[in-house]
Amino acid sequence: MHMAVTASVPNNEVKAASPVEIEWPHASRPCRLTVLGATGSVGTSTLDLVARAPERFEVVALTAQSNAPALAALARLHRAKLAVIGDEKYLPQLRDELAGTGIRTAGGADALVEAALMPADCVMAAIVGAAGLRPTFAAASCGKRVALANKECLVSAGHVFTAEIKRSGAELLPVDSEHSAAFQALTGAEPGSIEKIVLTASGGPFRTWTREALENATPEQALKHPNWSMGAKITIDSATLMNKGLELIEAFHLFPVSVDALDCVVHPQSVVHCLVSYVDGSVLAQLAAPDMRTPIAVALAWPGRMSAPTERLDLARLGSLTFEAPDETRFPALRVARAALRRGDTAPAVLNAANEIGVQAFLNRRIKFLEIAKLVEETLDAAERQGAISAAQCLDDILSIDERARRLAEDALNRY
Ligand code: NDP
Repeated sequence: MHMAVTASVPNNEVKAASPVEIEWPHASRPCRLTVLGATGSVGTSTLDLVARAPERFEVVALTAQSNAPALAALARLHRAKLAVIGDEKYLPQLRDELAGTGIRTAGGADALVEAALMPADCVMAAIVGAAGLRPTFAAASCGKRVALANKECLVSAGHVFTAEIKRSGAELLPVDSEHSAAFQALTGAEPGSIEKIVLTASGGPFRTWTREALENATPEQALKHPNWSMGAKITIDSATLMNKGLELIEAFHLFPVSVDALDCVVHPQSVVHCLVSYVDGSVLAQLAAPDMRTPIAVALAWPGRMSAPTERLDLARLGSLTFEAPDETRFPALRVARAALRRGDTAPAVLNAANEIGVQAFLNRRIKFLEIAKLVEETLDAAERQGAISAAQCLDDILSIDERARRLAEDALNRY
C-alpha cells in the first residue's frame, strides 16, 4: 500500500497515512482557512493562491500586527469574518477601514489567539518570530490542520508543540520550503529506511564574501537575498546562515531522524530544496523554482495538489546545479545553532530569542553583522552558567525562558 510519512508526529515516532484513503479534506465544501500573519510575505503568498482558487476556500480570520490598511484590504478582498490587529493602537484605524463591511474587528494579543481558535479547517501560521507561539499553539490545540511557516514554534518549543499536536490530533504540515520538500520526499518511507535528510541553503547574499568583508556588511546588503523574496527577519537569518540552523532544529522535530542524520549543503540556485537518502543508496529530492507558493500550495492541498502560478523549471536552460559545503568559520551561526540542538532542553529557545534580539540590533545598526552570532553564543553561555537551560513542560516554561534570554541578550548588547 502507498504510505506517507506525515509531519504531524513528534520526532522518532512515525505515523503513516495512506494518501489513497485520504481525500482533499474538504472536497465537498470549501476549506475554511485562517491566516495568522496575513500581511507578511508568506501570508500574502497564501492569499494570492486563495484568490486564484476562490471556490476552494472560505476565509475565516486574518491577522496582522500593525499594518491596518493592508489587513483591511485583504479582509475586504477575501470577505473574512474577522480581522485582528495585534497592536491595539491600530484598532481604531482598522475599524474605520472596515466600517460598513460587516467584517468583525478586534485588537491585542488575546484577539490573535481568538482568531486562531475560530472554527476553521486549516490555519496558516505565518506570524514572524516567537510572537507567533501563543496563536499557533491555540490553532494546534483544537485539532485543525496547521500549515506551519512560523518555524520559531518548533525551534523554541519543539517537544511541547509536537506533544500538543499529538494530544489534539491536529495535522502539522510544514511550509518552510526545505521541510515541505523533505515531507514530499519522505512519502512512503519507513523510519528505519531513512539514512539522512540534507537541507539545502542558498548561501545568502554573502556566500562568497571573505570574513573581513563580512565585518562591515550593512543591513541593506544583507536584505538583498539573491533568490527568495521574504520578510526582513528571515532574510537576515539567511545571510548569517542562522536560518539553516533554525531549520535543522525544525527538521529534528518534524521528522523521525536523529541529530546525526540531519545536515545541510549550500546550493546557490535554490532549485533543489532537500535531499532524503535511504539505506539502499537512493536519494530522493524535491525540485521547484524558489517561490513560496509551491510549498504553501502543498500544505493547503495535501494529500491532493492545487495549481500554483510559479515559474516552471527548465533544467536545460539552468544548465547546472551546484553544491558546496557550508563554511562555519565565516558563518558561525550554523555551528552555534547545531550546538544548541545537541544541547537540547531550552537551549534552542534561548538561541531563537537571542537571535531575534541580535537581528533587530543589526537592523538598527547597534551591532555589526558578525556580532549577531557572537551575541547568540554569549547569551547561550550566560544562560547555561545561570542554570537557565532545562527541560520545558509547557508553553509558559518556553515563554518564560524566551523572556529571560531576551534580557540576557539585551544585557550583553549593552557591552558592545
Ligand atoms: P513577514 O515579516 O513578511 O510577515 C510577518 C507577519 O506577522 C505580518 O503579517 C506581520 O504583521 C505579523 N507580525 C509581525 N510581528 C507580529 C507580532 N508581534 N504579533 C503578531 N503578528 C506579528 O514574515 P514572513 O512572512 O517572511 O515570515 C513569517 C514566518 O514564516 C517566519 O516565522 C519565517 O521564518 C517563516 N518563513 C518565511 C518564509 C518566507 O519566504 N518569507 C519562508 C519560510 C519560512 P504586520 O504586517 O502588521 O507587521
